[in-house]
Amino acid sequence: MNNKDLLTISKKFGNPVYVYDSNKIESQFLRLKNAFSKISNLRIHFAVKALSNISILKFMKKLGTGLDTVSIQEVKLGLIAGFDPKKIIYTPNGVSFDEIEKVSKTGVQINIDNLSLLEQFGSKYPNTPVCVRINPHVMAGGNSNISVGHIDSKFGISIHQIPHLKRIVENTKMHINGIHMHTGSDILDIDVFLYASEILFNNAMNFKNLEFIDFGSGFKVSYKKGDKETNIEELGEKLTIRFKKFIKNYGKKVDLAFEPGKFLVSESGYFLTSVNSLKQTTSTIFAQVDSGFNHFIRPMFYNSFHEIYNLSNTQGKKRFYSVVGYICETDTFGNNREIEEISEGDILVFKNAGAYCFSMSNNYNSRLKPAEVLWYNNEAKLIRERERFEDIINNQIEISL
Ligand SMILES: *Cc1c(COP(=O)(O)O)cnc(C)c1O
Repeated sequence: MNNKDLLTISKKFGNPVYVYDSNKIESQFLRLKNAFSKISNLRIHFAVKALSNISILKFMKKLGTGLDTVSIQEVKLGLIAGFDPKKIIYTPNGVSFDEIEKVSKTGVQINIDNLSLLEQFGSKYPNTPVCVRINPHVMAGGNSNISVGHIDSKFGISIHQIPHLKRIVENTKMHINGIHMHTGSDILDIDVFLYASEILFNNAMNFKNLEFIDFGSGFKVSYKKGDKETNIEELGEKLTIRFKKFIKNYGKKVDLAFEPGKFLVSESGYFLTSVNSLKQTTSTIFAQVDSGFNHFIRPMFYNSFHEIYNLSNTQGKKRFYSVVGYICETDTFGNNREIEEISEGDILVFKNAGAYCFSMSNNYNSRLKPAEVLWYNNEAKLIRERERFEDIINNQIEISL
């Protein structure tokens, strides 16, 4: 998919529009698979919350992934996309017992991260295998030091509570078939990841009937030139050696699982907007696009950097712009960015728009959510229609006053 294809898509489907390149998703999938090629029983579960369109999920299924889900609605999407429930893992946080019960009835793998829910579930369904989410209290991310995460994190069962966890398992006679961690951040430092893995391996020895160990995700991708990303190949080499050693110790074959979201889809995505107006102030030229944080919230929410370029003038000379939205609040996509000279009506492209972009969009200012397009087999396929005004008004009830 090249810029000419993107222009054609913009003309055909209108703006704003999200476009995903299936070739990029596939190459990222293969990269991860190849990094762990010496492990025959590797499970890659796509984290649905990153990009939850059912056509994307179907494409993942075609590649051979499973799914990582965090709500009963995501589970339902996965089932509609045709996934075998056994290939779906459900890792909720702070949901009701009722929801866990309902998901469990679909045959999906349950992952519990709370001792009280574990005890309730084990008492009622001792025969349903359950995975447990452990919090190793390791903080990764921008800081390369190995630091012990806050004990007060709301995620996972603290490693310090393993004795209680074991007591619950003994008392209820429940079957623990998996052990899981997900530290959550953009992991750059492989040693930090390996350090956390070590904690997981050690704790895995407490459970005799594991079928898989799940290392979650948090792999960092590149957002701009020169950006560092997780060195998956190096991680693959090092973790493979360590995993094989674990298997020897453990005495039984278990699967190795990952749950990448961002790694699989971030770079596949392009968000196309059109420039409504240019506005010059004393110090700045603003390019105002037909979108805002209602469609694309990461720059405002996480302060994340997304490259922006002018699809209508890719060879133009560069000038400095602030690219902002149309929401009646400050919604700056990029400040002081060097972009090929912009005219009103030009199409601007935001990169890395595959993960946590559409899936976090909303209807603020009563605006409509954009369309989504998948580039597949050298063709642009519409995978979500642009919302209509009816979608805004649909669930509202007008009372007589
Ligand atoms: C969000 C999430 C992921 C995916 O994280 P990425 O940083 O997008 O790879 C994986 N596992 C769990 C449990 C999650 O909540």
